[in-house]
Amino acid sequence: MYYGFDVGGTKIEFGAFNDNLERMATERVPTPGDDYQALLSVLSELVEKYDKQFSVKGSIGIGIPGMESVDDGAVLTSNVPAAKGKKLREDLEALVDRPVKVENDANCFALSEAWDKEHQGKESVLGLILGTGFGGGIVNNGHVVSGRSHVAGELGHTRMPIDAWFYLNDSAEGIDAPLFGCGCDKKGCIDNYLSGRGFEQLYQHYYGENVKAIDIINRHKQGEEKAVEHVERFMELLAICLGNIFTAFDPNVVVLGGGLSNFELIYEEMPKRIPKYLLSVGKVPTILKAKHGDSGGVRGAAFLNIV
Ligand SMILES: [Zn+2]
Repeated sequence: MYYGFDVGGTKIEFGAFNDNLERMATERVPTPGDDYQALLSVLSELVEKYDKQFSVKGSIGIGIPGMESVDDGAVLTSNVPAAKGKKLREDLEALVDRPVKVENDANCFALSEAWDKEHQGKESVLGLILGTGFGGGIVNNGHVVSGRSHVAGELGHTRMPIDAWFYLNDSAEGIDAPLFGCGCDKKGCIDNYLSGRGFEQLYQHYYGENVKAIDIINRHKQGEEKAVEHVERFMELLAICLGNIFTAFDPNVVVLGGGLSNFELIYEEMPKRIPKYLLSVGKVPTILKAKHGDSGGVRGAAFLNIV
């Protein structure tokens, strides 16, 4: 049995999956504020409960909004205070007497999609989240690529390609291209342009109006002029950035998650717009909407232990 935990800022989701990767149990509990011992208890008690229920010793994977330090295994996260700076893997392993894997939640999202029946056997699946932030996860032959420092897939903190900068400078006469600051202290990270937040920030920059992404999309559907212009600009920006990302990774399949991934126009526009930003021999991968929605995190966490 594969156990997965998706540990978020406010809730922890648990899932148990059998060898056919079918979900056999689900549980959701609140994340203990900043009480590390309480967090360890919650996790170990769920493991014991389901070990008993299924008469097995399940394998354990944990997805977190952050990563483990490669130096000492301490959890680097700002969203889960209870786990921040703690050696979660090591301490939980001692409590439940088995290996534990800890992985970034965007990587878990990508892994969940990669183990979907239709993608099994594909060499590489790239998961991209266009949510509050822009993030990603790289899966190669069914396994997460975490990288030397566990930052592989943090595509939101790559900076805007020069083509995007030229395009933004040309796209609105008399309005300077925006150079947005980022939470990582750098400027021009694509997180601030391609995420749902970026989508709204760009609209604010060009039209001086604070409008929610969903409302901009509705205005676009109604053919409202500013919204149409805005969406045109966003699609080109997205194509430029994805062109760069695809040149680096050349994935077989790309799966999009997060709120903006529900904007159907993306799936029509990207295959048309991306080729001019690739090498001439480069092919646009299949771009699909994620299938597993909010349960991607817990599925991917569980699947960390598939060998
Ligand atoms: Zn950044």
